Amino acid sequence: MTLIIHGHSFHYEMENLCRLFCPQEKILVTENAPEPGEEGLLAYTGLKERPDGSSLLTVRLSCGDSTKNSAALLPAGMPAEEQKRRMAVALWELLAERFGFRPGWGILTGVRPVKLFGRIAAERGTGAAVDCFRDKLLVSAEKAELARETWKNEEKILKCSRPDGFSLYLSIPFCPTRCSYCSFVSSSVEKTFRLIPKYVELLCEEIRRTAEIARNLGLRAQTVYFGGGTPTALSADQLTALISAVRENFDLSACREFTVEAGRPDTVTPEKLAAMKLGGVTRISINPQTLNDEVLKVIGRKHTSAQTLSAFALAREHGFGNINMDLIAGLPEDTPDSFRNTLEGVLRLSPESITVHTLALKRAARLNREGEPGNAEAAAQMLAFADEALLGAGYLPYYLYRQSRMVGNLENTGWAKPGYENLYNVFIMEECQSVLACGAGAVTKLRDPGSERIERVFNFKYPYEYIGRYEEILSRKEQVSEFYGKTGR
Ligand code: SF4
Repeated sequence: MTLIIHGHSFHYEMENLCRLFCPQEKILVTENAPEPGEEGLLAYTGLKERPDGSSLLTVRLSCGDSTKNSAALLPAGMPAEEQKRRMAVALWELLAERFGFRPGWGILTGVRPVKLFGRIAAERGTGAAVDCFRDKLLVSAEKAELARETWKNEEKILKCSRPDGFSLYLSIPFCPTRCSYCSFVSSSVEKTFRLIPKYVELLCEEIRRTAEIARNLGLRAQTVYFGGGTPTALSADQLTALISAVRENFDLSACREFTVEAGRPDTVTPEKLAAMKLGGVTRISINPQTLNDEVLKVIGRKHTSAQTLSAFALAREHGFGNINMDLIAGLPEDTPDSFRNTLEGVLRLSPESITVHTLALKRAARLNREGEPGNAEAAAQMLAFADEALLGAGYLPYYLYRQSRMVGNLENTGWAKPGYENLYNVFIMEECQSVLACGAGAVTKLRDPGSERIERVFNFKYPYEYIGRYEEILSRKEQVSEFYGKTGR
């Protein structure tokens, strides 16, 4: 697809809109007119100022002999933001007509629609925010309602964030095997396993160093989160070592939750559950993704739905009363009926929270490189069913985000029974407090309590880099003290 830009600087937004409709296609963005006889879909977006200060907005979509136009006269003095919105609406309408598909989030291409909803609601009230989403941003009635409901719940959680609070994140970038939709861990997952003992040793040291800095700054951890990868890919002893390093070094007197992702059911054992329980882990996540064994095979999960059910039962036997389960809508070979079976199966287990993701096909994912695009319409049906079933079962949406290249431009939503919302997920999503992060690929986000300013400190991505350049990682930790020093802490 070719996108022609003429007389404006909204190329980034227009390209994102084209990508909504053509997620797998390369989009050529250019200021040049097409060559005569050029083939393929062509989108022209132009803004031309007239002598009286008004501007002529023209959007055109053509393919072969078929051309559709949209034109409007924008009055003089119209702010650039509004010009951009008007252009986006015109382009979206033409694309929606051509592809016979009206993406639920309208022209919103950003990752945090709820944040935008909250901003509008704070200025003009919730009703006005819903109207704006529907009328100005072309968001469907269902998605506008989802944003409203999520914002309502999120707002309460945000009030729990303290000015001296932070979230602690530990990265465990190891998995038993690589899922085909994953762009996160390296392809040689099995090979990196030999690095685990050294990695755990160094991570314990980074935890100690980070805790010292937090203590000196008078900061207190409000949430702890072990994410991955799959933290339960570690042995029970390794998990104990990390949990103890956190417990012994951080002030956890203000800590409200301690989460460990036990994502892959095939990594859950009685010994690891006992170690986590003993270490005071309050919440774990066991992720079926789907309960359809055929789909599990296609996505390379290397476990069965029976293993998910028994891991869940085992966790309950070990006293875990706060379990999250992740599902993915839009997986290859999955159908709305099969997704419905999965969700109903998960609801029978009655976990405290369920996170419904939509498949996102990042470039690095094997699934994407092998060319199996997800089915947007099926994914939309799955999410519509999930929203209704989860609300009916007493779950409420409490955080929502989107990623690039999500099937159907849909969303990921965290649902929880009241009182079981995960604070960490909301805090990071809304960037309301600092995250001190340790481990390979971890990103520390420092938030100035007096403003919205965020500064990031990156750790090296892969375990071998983390081990090889560890001194650099430790020295970067000084940036945390420097940042807070500037904020007067
Ligand atoms: S469990 Fe998660 S992080 Fe690990 S390979 Fe699968 S998708 Fe990637």
